[in-house]
Amino acid sequence: AARKLAKGNRKSTLFFYNASLHQQLMLVKELELSMLSSLQNGNFMIFLQPKYKLSGRTIEGAEALVRWDHPNLGFLLPADFIPHLEKNRFILDLDFYVFEKICLLLKTWIAGHKPVIPISVNFSRLHLLTRDFTARLISIMQSYGIPPNLLEIELTESAFIDQSVDLLKVAYSLKKQGMTISMDDFGSGYSSLLALKDLPVDVLKLDKGFFSKGLITNKDEIIIRGFVKMAKQLHLRVVSEGIETAKQADFLEEIGCDLAQGYYFSKPLPVRGFEALLANELLTS
Ligand code: C2E
Ligand code: MG
Ligand code: MG
Ligand code: MG
Repeated sequence: AARKLAKGNRKSTLFFYNASLHQQLMLVKELELSMLSSLQNGNFMIFLQPKYKLSGRTIEGAEALVRWDHPNLGFLLPADFIPHLEKNRFILDLDFYVFEKICLLLKTWIAGHKPVIPISVNFSRLHLLTRDFTARLISIMQSYGIPPNLLEIELTESAFIDQSVDLLKVAYSLKKQGMTISMDDFGSGYSSLLALKDLPVDVLKLDKGFFSKGLITNKDEIIIRGFVKMAKQLHLRVVSEGIETAKQADFLEEIGCDLAQGYYFSKPLPVRGFEALLANELLTS
């Protein structure tokens, strides 16, 4: 299990970048030929990464992150396949598959009187161009009997800029249902400050790029402080991603960031490992 875990967390395989053009075409073909059977055979796996409350350092939620245990190519990370599955639109099915698995997991936790925490699921921006996105989300949630406050929808920052009109409708109807919406990778792309003004977003996820070099420079500090302060005044919760050191965690706690996620706390874990972590935390706290 430890080996599998290590594999599941290594950086990208990057084989697309090292391959010749011909090899790349073959690899894309291979992904295409196997995606449907992989979905049916359970080769798409869900890992969970905990989100920690900075004051108290307890687990408050988790994010679902997909991996592809490919029958011929080995263990693939999202960077290897998501761009291709967006191109051929299979991501629309994969995201709902992940969402449904998460609903099933929550249902199992609830039924088994296990500890239950909210889980966020990432959705491609392509969903915003489809007509039945919210209706489908709501119908799956209801068919598993999951309280909406246990489900969070993560959309990346760029999604909030590209299709602002549709997004407003989507965001309002999810919010009306009681689901949480978070803006992922905040600060990584174009300024989405204007979008923030009008959108019913609940959570800002500060992009891991702010923390990528381990230390926080003076300039980083000014920007992070500013974002956190602004978010607080807009009554948004702030999650910092990619936290790798105690120093970063302490700084974020000091400036009032609510939650943090990153290798310092825990890598994304297979579901069983995550459940063990959660149970252990409750035992020791
Ligand atoms: P994201 O949603 O911003 O997820 C955070 C990424 O940062 C994850 O990469 C996670 O493993 C990684 N990470 C967590 N802690 C640390 C840390 O301390 N340091 C560093 N350097 N990285 C950390 P992952 O799992 O490879 O996923 C990459 C992206 O793929 C995600 O970024 C998300 O945009 C996308 N993705 C993952 N699962 C899904 C999915 O089911 N559907 C869709 N549409 N996109 C997904
Ligand atoms: Mg995310
Ligand atoms: Mg992110
Ligand atoms: Mg990201």
